[in-house]
Amino acid sequence: MTKIGLEIHCQLTKLESKLFCSCKADYREFEPNTNICPICMGIPGSLPLLNKIAVEKATLIAMALDCSTPDKIAFFRKNYFYPDLPKNFQITQLNAYGNTSIGWEGKILVGAVKIRIRRIQLEEDPGRLIYEGATEKTKLTLVDYNRAGTPLVEIVTEPDFETPHQVREFLNILSDLLENLNVSDPGLEGAMRADANVSIEGGSKVEIKNIGSFHDLEKAVHFEITRQQSLVERKIEIIQETRHWDDGRKITVSARTKEEEAEYRYHLEADIPWVRINDTTKNQLQTHMPESISSKKERYVSKYGITSQVADILSSDKYFSELFEKANNETNAKDIANMITTDIMGLLDTREKREMSKLEGDHISDLVEYIKSNKITRASAKLALDEVIKNGKQLSEIIEDLDLGHVSDETTLSDIITEILDEETKAVEDAKQNPDIVNFLVGKVMQKTRGKADPELTLSLLKKHLGIN
Ligand SMILES: [Zn+2]
Repeated sequence: MTKIGLEIHCQLTKLESKLFCSCKADYREFEPNTNICPICMGIPGSLPLLNKIAVEKATLIAMALDCSTPDKIAFFRKNYFYPDLPKNFQITQLNAYGNTSIGWEGKILVGAVKIRIRRIQLEEDPGRLIYEGATEKTKLTLVDYNRAGTPLVEIVTEPDFETPHQVREFLNILSDLLENLNVSDPGLEGAMRADANVSIEGGSKVEIKNIGSFHDLEKAVHFEITRQQSLVERKIEIIQETRHWDDGRKITVSARTKEEEAEYRYHLEADIPWVRINDTTKNQLQTHMPESISSKKERYVSKYGITSQVADILSSDKYFSELFEKANNETNAKDIANMITTDIMGLLDTREKREMSKLEGDHISDLVEYIKSNKITRASAKLALDEVIKNGKQLSEIIEDLDLGHVSDETTLSDIITEILDEETKAVEDAKQNPDIVNFLVGKVMQKTRGKADPELTLSLLKKHLGIN
């Protein structure tokens, strides 16, 4: 039987400052080694000061994952040397004196499968090592400490996964959940990283580290299962070890034998007192917790009559569900939801495009209303949408600027049709035998009016001109 467990590291990217100092939590825009101070560099004599909001946000995650939460938390030093860890220890949590980490014993449902959360802890991210060229062959390694001290939540699952696909699904659900809670932006480079441990048929546990994306993690777990199965078939012992994912060769490679927890010589971080999280704080967090994705989905279905499939897509994406909420959705909610999930999601399919977009909720409700009241055709609506995304102007202004107004005036349309019938003499002949040709002529009218002609009126006028029913 295959058993897979995960350790997910998620940065609390929505915070202002690092976990124990006032350096910026968002280190990405800084020149290397400029977002640092004596505290995150661990200069002797400096004292950490715990970020209260980080504790609250981490507790929020624990609650959202159905975890038990403690009355007081403690921090521990995990001692090890690594060049990206200037203090030679990481401040983290450990359930050594009872449960004193941020949360424990939670769960996430992946379809019908329950994945148990063993523990959630709050800790600091180390710095970053930057290699020149491939990791194994590099002659030069640079260290950037800007990231050191960034608030990180580690979520450890029980080994409840049986397939790589479940792992991928779980990470998608978790990533949507964290984004919905407004604690993290998992799409940012390095904001969400995961290690996996894999064992088969009760054998030793192998940990896979160094995986950059969910897609690669799924592949790495798949590779590791196959590798272990092959060892078992050849009666070779599987050793407990840490392996790295080699992205170039798409295989896992042995890194080092895993340290036992005892080798980290954990001890209580005496520079940070135990912190009490009282019921009032917990109640406040619970009250202000953003609506969960599942209850949002239910509300979309029951209040607006949106299909379950569309509601599922819409509710799990924070950006697009907010766009939907901001649209004037008292009427036409279903059409607004459909327009977002079919047209707009395609147009705004990258983070960059969404950041640049000037599209507001009102634009979408206006556009749907314009289509419904025959002021604009669907074809023209797409052009208008492109334009709104670019410049954010009012829809009425765009329709005028681009001359996208609906052509539904009978005389104008008749004139256009007469012109086309004169040009398309062969099609006119064929149409009398084959009614499908009429659609070809409708297409010609659309072409000539750049998609602005009312399709129904065009069809009936064409039939009239051709003398067919
Ligand atoms: Zn600092």
